[in-house]
Amino acid sequence: MYLLLDDIKELQLDHSSRCNLSCPQCARTQNNWSTTSPNRNLDLTIEDYNILLAPFPPNQIQLFHCGNFGDALASPTFDQTLDFSLSKNPKRIKITTNGSLRSPDWWKDLALKGRDVIRVAFSIDGLEDTNSIYRVNSSWKKILTNIKSFIENGGYARWDFIEFKHNYHQIKSAQKMASDLGFKEFNVKYTARFAEQEVQRFKTSKGHIVEDVNFNPNKKNLEDIKSDFSSFDSYASSTSISCKYKLRKSIFVDMKMRLWPCCWFGAPPYLQHKNKQQEDFQYLNSLYGEKFNCLRTHGWDVLTHDFFRNYLEQSWSLPTKKYRRFYTCGRTCGERFEFSSGYGKNKNHTSL
Ligand code: SF4
Ligand code: SF4
Repeated sequence: MYLLLDDIKELQLDHSSRCNLSCPQCARTQNNWSTTSPNRNLDLTIEDYNILLAPFPPNQIQLFHCGNFGDALASPTFDQTLDFSLSKNPKRIKITTNGSLRSPDWWKDLALKGRDVIRVAFSIDGLEDTNSIYRVNSSWKKILTNIKSFIENGGYARWDFIEFKHNYHQIKSAQKMASDLGFKEFNVKYTARFAEQEVQRFKTSKGHIVEDVNFNPNKKNLEDIKSDFSSFDSYASSTSISCKYKLRKSIFVDMKMRLWPCCWFGAPPYLQHKNKQQEDFQYLNSLYGEKFNCLRTHGWDVLTHDFFRNYLEQSWSLPTKKYRRFYTCGRTCGERFEFSSGYGKNKNHTSL
């Protein structure tokens, strides 16, 4: 059994597939996803949260708004569902956002009603002259006024900084600024996207070039893996697996209320560009149908479905013809390649 209901400590949510930005490595910007995908304007609703939160007693779970396709604050249903969530007394509500959405008054209100429960991670990859290179369409002025309003009214804030070639020299200044503004944490991350896609640079829709730092440990790991195995794919299909989400008792809900073991499963079913994960998910649909994990249809009984009861864990250690291993698991949670940029292996996480 993947996780029992009583074991769950965190629900990670893709509350919405909307966002005001166009970051070049985001799933929503690949292959015109944000303008052409039929799934581009979806939101979870208050009825969904009724289903989601019903089984959990006060203080058991953390809600974590960190989606694959959207920023929860871009959603028209977010405020109503946030108030509902707060009324259920969760242990914590974490929100990751680009910071360019909503007004200072809204942020003040969030800080005041958040009490000790709400924590916000602002994804800011640089300073005034660099943040919008990767965070395309973000407004520095708006981010700063929003942050000030939130922190000055008692909000708990963390700064997440993805290092690239164009902002690496600003890490120390950004950390000082975070401390001056009253952030509680400053977190420097690298990204695995360059290594995963085996490219050194991306071009943004504004024509800027975004390049990986030369010393990203992923690059070296990838080279070593490719020399020790015949290919990365052969590594992914044979490495031992240590499931990151099971370890921290977390589970993921996408913007259609489908339950997945993790965020890395919640993206491929909706991608429009050709990718290595496609075939596995087509197989899953052919085996169980597209609604096998829909919480709107089955409620939390989904957790007892064959996929969560047997398939997933067996596919890691004893894959069979029926319970095939997912490329996603080998790539993400294998022993020699750190795919995650945000969990467990952050480069430099400082409490301020
Ligand atoms: S802010 Fe987040 S959701 Fe929006 S485009 Fe950037 S990475 Fe994607
Ligand atoms: S990719 Fe697979 S092994 Fe990794 S967290 Fe997700 S379900 Fe677990």
